[in-house]
Amino acid sequence: MAESIKRVGVIGAGAMGCGVAHVSAIAGYDVHLIDIGKQQIERGLATINGNLARQVTSGKLSDDDRKKALKLITASTDLQDLASADIVIEAITEDEAEKRALYARLCPILKPETLLASNTSSFSITRLAAATDRPERFMGVHFMNPVPVMELVELVRGIATDEATFETAREFVRALGKTPTVSEDFPAFIVNRILLPMINEAIYVLYEGVGTVDHIDTAMKLGARHPMGPLELADFIGLDTCLSGMQMLHEGLADNKYRPCPLLVKYVDAGWLGRKSGRGFYDYRGEDPVPTR
Ligand code: NAD
Repeated sequence: MAESIKRVGVIGAGAMGCGVAHVSAIAGYDVHLIDIGKQQIERGLATINGNLARQVTSGKLSDDDRKKALKLITASTDLQDLASADIVIEAITEDEAEKRALYARLCPILKPETLLASNTSSFSITRLAAATDRPERFMGVHFMNPVPVMELVELVRGIATDEATFETAREFVRALGKTPTVSEDFPAFIVNRILLPMINEAIYVLYEGVGTVDHIDTAMKLGARHPMGPLELADFIGLDTCLSGMQMLHEGLADNKYRPCPLLVKYVDAGWLGRKSGRGFYDYRGEDPVPTR
């Protein structure tokens, strides 16, 4: 365990926040999870329960450890309950104004020494830090989805992040059994900076008629040993998420090589967002996914 951390606060009981609460409790930390409503809290706790149970079924966790982890997790809608947290991971909706408004309410409640981390995928850590009372104790701790399964966490320093904060965050991430990598604070950090343009390029290959959906995905699975084809992966991530990521890279780095493919824009305009909407580069409404091109 990271020595200076006993209590972990997690804000946002969505996909990512639940994952962070889950892995923190398994590592033996006291966890308090916050969301805006009772319904969101109940949904979040049900998700954690279900995911822990699945790990028991698949032999990755003993039933004793599942029970121990569940006992360590509490949840509420009251930020005041984070007053004793040693580290707080913010994993609310990706909306910068929302995040800033949250920090304004949260910071006066936290102990002065508490470390505050954001799980943001796209906003500047330096800019978010400037909206807090503790830029030197603020940084990016970017978990991957699904958190209990993915081994990587990207650590991102803001311009003011101090070394002690960075070291504590690194120790914490290791205590969760994850492998940290370090990225400078530039748009999309490392994983998405490389992954999203690859997906966008696959969509260009489709758009230009170089290959069909099936041939593009098969080519990358068998020819580059990717476990999923890029178009299948785009549908899994959500085409709206892929598009907003490319727009962020295009604007943030002011380089035309990041321009989103017009075909990606068209799919998003149509509401064909991938798996979550039933249709994207594949149609998921039948028994087996069928390419839409
Ligand atoms: P989500 O939409 O699944 O969950 C967000 C949760 O935050 C919701 O339950 C919402 O009710 C809650 N929330 C919103 N405003 C709040 C507030 N002011 N106070 C408390 N709770 C609030 O989102 P997610 O996919 O879990 O993403 C969360 C963060 O993690 C975002 O910053 C996102 O960019 C980042 N992220 C997401 C992924 C991913 O693949 N989903 C991967 C890495 C990082």
